[in-house]
Amino acid sequence: MELFAVPDLPEIREGDDLGALIDDRVDLRPDDVVCVASTVVSKVEGRAFDLDDFPAGPRAREIAARLSEISGDEKDPRFAQAVLEESTEVIMDAPFLLTESRFGHVGVNAGIDRSNVPGHDLLLLPERPSDSAERIRSGLSADRVLVTDTCGRPFRHGQRGVAIGWAGMAPARDWRGEADRDGRELGVTVESVADELAAAANLVAGEGDGGTPVVVVRDFEWGDHGEHDAHFRDVDGDLIRQAVRGWEFDE
Ligand code: GDP
Ligand code: MN
Ligand code: MN
Repeated sequence: MELFAVPDLPEIREGDDLGALIDDRVDLRPDDVVCVASTVVSKVEGRAFDLDDFPAGPRAREIAARLSEISGDEKDPRFAQAVLEESTEVIMDAPFLLTESRFGHVGVNAGIDRSNVPGHDLLLLPERPSDSAERIRSGLSADRVLVTDTCGRPFRHGQRGVAIGWAGMAPARDWRGEADRDGRELGVTVESVADELAAAANLVAGEGDGGTPVVVVRDFEWGDHGEHDAHFRDVDGDLIRQAVRGWEFDE
């Protein structure tokens, strides 16, 4: 398997045809997986905004005041308002905002970025990243598209790429019912291939001014495995989320 960045992509603007920009620069093959940083998907979809677009309500003011007190830094209540508007559930409101976004992804600040957004204050995640992936895919000669974001994780330091949208492939491959090397049947392993490929692509894309938001994964073989559609956990089965919901930050 090989990964390479699509070269010479320009600064992406609202309304650009990402599929055409990619197809013009690389000879894609049908079984390539095209991994696109959510940053440029958001730019195409007009998801850049200014803080003034989010006049803060009482809840956002309260959250920002508490976060300011905890961090010793002045936190903008309009930013908290933007996060609230992008979210269906606030899982933690201190010492940072951990929410579920409208499409089911749990992350800090609803994935809103303040870097790589020329001319605006904020870049919101795409509204429905799997729909975005499907739109991009329809203009490409590759069959599979992932939309990625760089994201922190619990229990470990450091951020890494995850898939927030996918098209043309299931997000996971299902090893259940297959055997390990001792012949023992695997009972639980559903492997998040979408996240694994997104992490590798994100490693190639980089985080700064590299200008390489699109990475092609070539010659990845799914193998003889079942597919699995689940990616974001349902709230009911998400015991960690339920535990965190009931937790209160205490300075
Ligand atoms: P995120 O992980 O989706 O939040 O995206 P990042 O902000 O980390 O950017 C990922 C990569 O895309 C980095 O190499 C950036 O330099 C690059 N990038 C971001 N926006 C643009 C753009 O409009 N044009 C180009 N060519 N590269 C961009
Ligand atoms: Mn991001
Ligand atoms: Mn990134």
